[in-house]
Amino acid sequence: MDLASVQSDIEKVIVSEEQLQTRLKEIARKIENDYKDQDLLLIGVLKGAVMVMADLTRHINRHVEIDWMAVSSYGSGTKSSGVVRILKDLDRDITGRNVLIIEDIVDTGLTLDWLTQNLKSRGAGSVEIMTVLRKPDAAIVKVDVRYVGFDIPKDFVIGYGLDFNEKYRNLPFIAVLAKHMYE
Ligand code: 5GP
Repeated sequence: MDLASVQSDIEKVIVSEEQLQTRLKEIARKIENDYKDQDLLLIGVLKGAVMVMADLTRHINRHVEIDWMAVSSYGSGTKSSGVVRILKDLDRDITGRNVLIIEDIVDTGLTLDWLTQNLKSRGAGSVEIMTVLRKPDAAIVKVDVRYVGFDIPKDFVIGYGLDFNEKYRNLPFIAVLAKHMYE
């Protein structure tokens, strides 16, 4: 879906399609380097990480395995509850595996803090995090994120996997949702 189709719903585009892809290529090179000759299992967090998983993995020039989890971190509205529920679990045992969690956004950090501990408790050899976006001003808990696409302000953003009421995930860029859409 293109910009013209959503122009009146958004305040501004904050990360363009080109900026996203350029950054993902840089991160792919770092991942290749950091995991040289090592096993690597990418775990995507549904549904937001679908776009980044599809693009990032195609930029990575080595074998990787992919698995998915779905967790719910928000009750209703746009506030993080800190209560995490597994909606879909992994298909495989991760004992001893080098796990790289692929996320769309780190907001309060509560979801990833919980997920990292959960995966470590299953005996993963290592657990690291890659996120497209991070909101440093919204952090409630500190999570160590190894690969960050872009640090952004606290605004509610949509696009590139991120939704508002399940819409806008299929935008190829990231934009701030206009206030009139939810106020
Ligand atoms: P956290 O636990 O870090 O507060 O929240 C993580 C989850 O909240 C993300 O995976 C995402 O689903 C949702 N979230 C946080 N900030 C935003 C935002 O600006 N836009 C959208 N669409 N979702 C967000």
